[in-house]
Amino acid sequence: MSNRQHCIIVGGSHAGAQAAVSLRQEGWNGAITLISAEPILPYHRPPLSKAFLCGGKSDDELLIRPADFYAKQGIEVRLNTRVARVDAASRTLTCDDGTQLAYSHLILATGADVRRLSVPGSELPGVCYLRGRDDVLAIRRHLKPGGRAVIVGGGYIGLETAASLRKQGMQVVVLEAQSRVLQRVTAAEVSDFYTRVHREEGVEVMLEAAIDHIAGGEAVEAVVLSDGRTLPADLVVVGIGVLPNVELARQMGLEADNGIRVDEHARTALDDVYAVGDCTFHYNPIYATWLRLESVQNATDQARTAALAICGKAAPYKTLPWFWSDQYDLKLQIAGLSTGYDQVVIRGDSRHGRSFSAFYLREGRLLAVDAVNRPKEFTFTKRFLAEGRSADAQRLADESVDFQACFS
Ligand code: FAD
Repeated sequence: MSNRQHCIIVGGSHAGAQAAVSLRQEGWNGAITLISAEPILPYHRPPLSKAFLCGGKSDDELLIRPADFYAKQGIEVRLNTRVARVDAASRTLTCDDGTQLAYSHLILATGADVRRLSVPGSELPGVCYLRGRDDVLAIRRHLKPGGRAVIVGGGYIGLETAASLRKQGMQVVVLEAQSRVLQRVTAAEVSDFYTRVHREEGVEVMLEAAIDHIAGGEAVEAVVLSDGRTLPADLVVVGIGVLPNVELARQMGLEADNGIRVDEHARTALDDVYAVGDCTFHYNPIYATWLRLESVQNATDQARTAALAICGKAAPYKTLPWFWSDQYDLKLQIAGLSTGYDQVVIRGDSRHGRSFSAFYLREGRLLAVDAVNRPKEFTFTKRFLAEGRSADAQRLADESVDFQACFS
């Protein structure tokens, strides 16, 4: 084991990039190496299914920090490099090109990868996924006005992709296996709202749809459902969730089932080994629950937490989760965790309009909000949730009552 202070970060996306930045900001004087399996510098993923898919952003505009930032900060970035093994006892790691590097501190920011479709025909050209920038380039090769796209999965990625493809004149079908879109993450009222809006925008939304196989010769030609219906397709985009990248952690002997288990300082069970972002399973003290989050907020906040701990300024991670999704003219902003709600209060008209908020409560306690085109309600609720204020459900449902007066 060398005495050199060297923090190696595995994974160069939101969490990895923020960890490197925060280490420098918090006074880390040692070496920093950021190792990324991807071919380009850390970039923002949210625009991938939105502006970037629509062709409205260049590679440079995607970057989290400009290209010269890392050298100026003394951060060595190794692109196109995958860490294959870590030997925690000797504190060395081996990359897929055979390079060995010694570390004093290690941050795993390995994120998540797409869950793959396994029906026959899934490997045909034209069946695409959406996790990285190269995936978007692959999708774009199949885009043409009037072309037919089938989206598998009515979650945020699937619905955002549907909106972006519609904007570009594609005919779009969304297949959702459950009885409503966004079932895992929102209330029925919000699901119904998004189904209505997508249908109004010309998307065919098919619920309780099961795929039998994907048909094609040289490339995808159709998606065939279990009930025999055939949907012609020039492009299939699969958005059926992600799985955390935990292989390295497991190989190091760390507990990692639905994510790498970390404490409130993003520390794993091994000395000086941290994990941050989508790959972690962590405790949220606000909701008194263990969870794995897939959000930029969590990736960046947890990365800061790890950097603070490494720099001897440990401050426990205690942040309210928040998230957003853009589809058409709709900006959905979510604060808090709705899991376990027993009441939903709608403020505004979700059945006919395009602006409302859905408040989630359990035993009268406010848990979360989904605010559609209501930035003020989102901002206030985020603050009130963090402050632990309680909400009056009846008043919330009544738009004639001043919003802030609904909370005590
Ligand atoms: P990741 O972004 O998954 O990055 C992990 C990186 O580690 C990858 O580059 C991977 O290649 C690399 N890696 C893995 N293993 C190794 C290894 N062994 N060696 C080297 N490198 C390795 N979140 C929001 O909050 N709002 C949104 O609107 C939103 N929209 C999204 C839209 C899309 C299309 C996608 C895909 C995601 C979106 N998200 C959104 C989620 C958000 O992007 C993720 O939560 C975030 O990227 C997590 O960052 P991360 O650094 O933890 O992991």
